[in-house]
Amino acid sequence: MIQIDLTGQVAVVTGGTSGIGLATAELFLQAGASVAICGRDAERLAKAERRLNDRFPQAPLLAVRCDVLDANDVGAFASAVQARFGSAHMLVNNAGQGRVSTFADTTDEAWREELELKYFSIVRPTRAFLPMLRAAASTGNASIVCVNSLLALQPEPHMVATSSARAGVLSLIKSLATELAPERVRVNSILIGIVESGQWRRRYETQAQPGQSWQDWTSELARKKHIPLGRFGLPEEAAQALFYLATALSSYTTGSHIDVSGGVARHV
Ligand code: NDP
Repeated sequence: MIQIDLTGQVAVVTGGTSGIGLATAELFLQAGASVAICGRDAERLAKAERRLNDRFPQAPLLAVRCDVLDANDVGAFASAVQARFGSAHMLVNNAGQGRVSTFADTTDEAWREELELKYFSIVRPTRAFLPMLRAAASTGNASIVCVNSLLALQPEPHMVATSSARAGVLSLIKSLATELAPERVRVNSILIGIVESGQWRRRYETQAQPGQSWQDWTSELARKKHIPLGRFGLPEEAAQALFYLATALSSYTTGSHIDVSGGVARHV
């Protein structure tokens, strides 16, 4: 991978305690950035902080308990970043999870919860960190990258609310990119297929046959889902695309997205 020195730059990753977010935090730390992560669960947060401190002992790292759906939490997270690092150059809106449900079994409340999660996990952190991103843009790279799903373009009936919300988020990202371009804050996203991570580990624990290994379960699922590359993606592979879009490596790219789905997209 191309080496890029991010010393002096600050990367904020929401939902940085496992999976894609944690892998992204590791990439930023490896490149010398100061990194702030958040998550709701204090134990998972402490575990992620220990893991990052072990791998990068001297690295400037901040771990804050924060639910991105809680405006007060998000405000406090942004204040903590400002107090510790004084700035933010890159915001990765990653926190969240998918909802498996068809139209028939999605209640009004479930629709509201899903739409709130998908929109406000972007709206709140973006609003809170925008003053710091604007300030960073006046001297160099400033960007927002959102973790979105291929469901935005290729909806699945068994994830009806998530697919619908993902499509809306794609539109939100395009509008944000246009509105913030004159201020030199870039906004992009990645569209992922299936990436090995916490939520898939939890599904494996409840859905695998007794004695079926993680390897066998994921290979079978990749076959059933016709993933051309024949496997789930790794968190590191999603993280590398996020890293590219967050840093000046993609300095002339905004309002765009990268497909990280193993070739599963059917459209040209
Ligand atoms: P993980 O469950 O491993 O990671 C999710 C992270 O988000 C955790 O750190 C979790 O910590 C945090 N999180 C969840 N909800 C909130 C919240 N409200 N506020 C703050 N933090 C939160 O899953 P992934 O790495 O797979 O997920 C990363 C993103 O990728 C998610 O947005 C997910 O929807 C998306 N995605 C993943 C796919 C996949 O196949 N893995 C497919 C399509 C999209 P905690 O629970 O402690 O808050």
